[in-house]
Amino acid sequence: MSVSPFGIQLAYVVSAALFIYGLKLLGSAATARRGNTISAAGMLLAIVAALLDQGIVEYQWIFAGFIVGGAIGASASRLVQMTAMPEMVALFNGFGGLASLLVGAAAISGDAGVFTLVTIVLSILIGGVTFTGSLVAYGKLSEKISSAAVQFSGQQMVNSVIIFAIFVSGWLFCLYPETPFWLILMIALSLAFGIMAVIPIGGADMPVVISLLNSYSGLAACAAGFAINNNILIVAGSLVGASGIILTQIMCKAMNRSLSNVLFSGFAAVSDEESVVEGEIKPISAEDAYYILEAATSVAIIPGYGMAVAQAQHVVKELTELLEKNGAEVNFGIHPVAGRMPGHMNVLLAEADVPYDQLLEMDDINPRMETVDVAIVIGANDVVNPAARDVESSPIYGMPVINVDQARTVFVLKRSMASGFAGIENPLFYKDNTRMLFGDAKESIGSLVRELGNS
Ligand code: NDP
Repeated sequence: MSVSPFGIQLAYVVSAALFIYGLKLLGSAATARRGNTISAAGMLLAIVAALLDQGIVEYQWIFAGFIVGGAIGASASRLVQMTAMPEMVALFNGFGGLASLLVGAAAISGDAGVFTLVTIVLSILIGGVTFTGSLVAYGKLSEKISSAAVQFSGQQMVNSVIIFAIFVSGWLFCLYPETPFWLILMIALSLAFGIMAVIPIGGADMPVVISLLNSYSGLAACAAGFAINNNILIVAGSLVGASGIILTQIMCKAMNRSLSNVLFSGFAAVSDEESVVEGEIKPISAEDAYYILEAATSVAIIPGYGMAVAQAQHVVKELTELLEKNGAEVNFGIHPVAGRMPGHMNVLLAEADVPYDQLLEMDDINPRMETVDVAIVIGANDVVNPAARDVESSPIYGMPVINVDQARTVFVLKRSMASGFAGIENPLFYKDNTRMLFGDAKESIGSLVRELGNS
């Protein structure tokens, strides 16, 4: 079936409009699901239009890709745990980059003009960096490799040499596109640079890296779109690139860091210095915690990565309802980098039907903290670490945190004294007003729910 070029371009315009409308709906938790469906419909339309664009495809390969990719996607959606979603997102970014690299390489032809050759270089370069950078991010997030920053003397020099070599090989490739050597060298260098760019970034800075790689995957797709002259790929790539940059900015602001500081300073490297924390740990049982909670009129719940691990969101919702029934005002304090992906806590709490107006951003809950009777920290650690505010030598000094230590009483629900993702001590656990409720968060909250339910 052949469709006129006008029909194809019209379909692309409609797809682009659906992407943009879908993105707008993604801006609020209440409409996000619909936004996702609308954007996916736009993508389906774009794919069908691209397939109908004569001369582009051989259908048997498309069909084979559809079967293989569909089977991998379907099994991943069933097998991958909710807690493994962040590393899955890192892999998605990486494969997006790899796809752009391959599209760029496939677009090489003897009669390509200078503009096309430059866009091919960009799609290969950005795609390659995104691919290996995302693989390292995947390793760090899944803790298959240490999340600590890897630094060595002369690192900046090695990186500068790689960047210089990338420019030279890209330039020589544009001059001699038929010589495979420059292409292969450019690919190898961009893959190496992806690794080198992400290994020195550690601990608490990973949110910035994830969103930046997300943006890179879009930019690579955009460059690939120019290389093969496909308008919808240019539009989709630009949207991903731009939204990734906006997210990167939000994450930088959340960590009170500049992007160059994150990328080049290795600031979040896990400190080798032994930090001295004063005070002692005061464990509490669920029963004793219940007596304090029962008398509370205002409660703040601060969830973190441990709530995702324990899958405690549903039982947290039950606890909220019981506390409200008991006359307490309950709010959630959501830190922008809590969990392991942007919006992680919002997604979990939405799944448990916690009303959106109960979720307060860090800047809204912090001024109220002094009037809170009980702050319940559920599997959060780095995002409530007062060292970020008080200890200048701390690796996370300057990162805004939720000031739970200012509440009258703090319950910290975790299984042990283990540190969080940034790998640093948390003085909160030793404060006079802190009580540690040790155990799996789902079980601990389950016990509180039973106590409150029986009262
Ligand atoms: P943290 O990683 O700092 O701490 C999580 C805590 O949860 C741990 O101390 C752990 O202690 C506890 N925990 C784990 N499992 C359970 C369980 N089953 N029950 C109870 N507690 C549990 O989490 P935060 O959310 O406070 O901070 C997020 C960190 O991740 C920040 O450093 C952030 O920069 C980083 N990050 C965030 C990303 C994002 O986009 N949001 C992306 C990448 C990294 P224990 O083992 O003792 O139970």
